[in-house]
Amino acid sequence: MQFTYESYVAMLKELHIKGYHFKNYNNWHETDCSVILRHDVDYSLEKAVLLSEIEKSVFPESVQATYFILVSTDFYNIHSRTSRNQMRQIIDNGGIIGLHFDETQYDIADEREMQKYVREEADILSAVVGTKTDVVSTHRSSQKFLSAEMEFPDMINSYSSTYFKNMKYLSDSRRHWRENVDEIIGNCLFRRLHILTHPFWYMQGREVSLKETLQNAILQASLNRYDNLNDNFKELERELKRTEIERIVYKTSDEENA
Ligand SMILES: [Zn+2]
Repeated sequence: MQFTYESYVAMLKELHIKGYHFKNYNNWHETDCSVILRHDVDYSLEKAVLLSEIEKSVFPESVQATYFILVSTDFYNIHSRTSRNQMRQIIDNGGIIGLHFDETQYDIADEREMQKYVREEADILSAVVGTKTDVVSTHRSSQKFLSAEMEFPDMINSYSSTYFKNMKYLSDSRRHWRENVDEIIGNCLFRRLHILTHPFWYMQGREVSLKETLQNAILQASLNRYDNLNDNFKELERELKRTEIERIVYKTSDEENA
């Protein structure tokens, strides 16, 4: 399996052909052969939207994927108009919004405090998105809370044993599948699957290396930064042209890819 949209689509089609029903964290048990698609949106809402568009184009009736969104991150701001539109697009494309909770943003002493912060962030996310967020996954989780069978009142913990022990869990964390996904799906080795993918790693066309993916994201971010400045700083072009930044960005990426 490659980190391209083509490869991701091929995986979805194969799941369908093999009789897996696309389900979510609430209804996975309604059929005896189901798959939950989980996406952790660690860095880019834009990439999440792209993946949801692809899912919708292949399965217009929805694959019910859950997009876990960070509330306290330095990468995107869920309150901005751009982000709100992006989350709306994900929902319009059939996606479900879940909370991706980063405990390192707080000093959390015990389970009760963890529950408190998760509740707070879930309420914020629900208010912004306009639908109730009732499922949580953790980002940069410590062993302390991962190993504990944490319960969150009125919320589904995607790390609870239900989604690990009763299902085959497959993940592309750090852009690396630890098992042969194609073989597992192709041979129907498990009747229930829980698949975590990070939209950030996937792209159109040819697969590029992990390093190149990271570098391109960082370089592209400087152009986004320019555009943000341009929205806020009057006549930015007079002081610094976008093409000047583009020249540096594209020169750097060309040199690296040469
Ligand atoms: Zn994460």
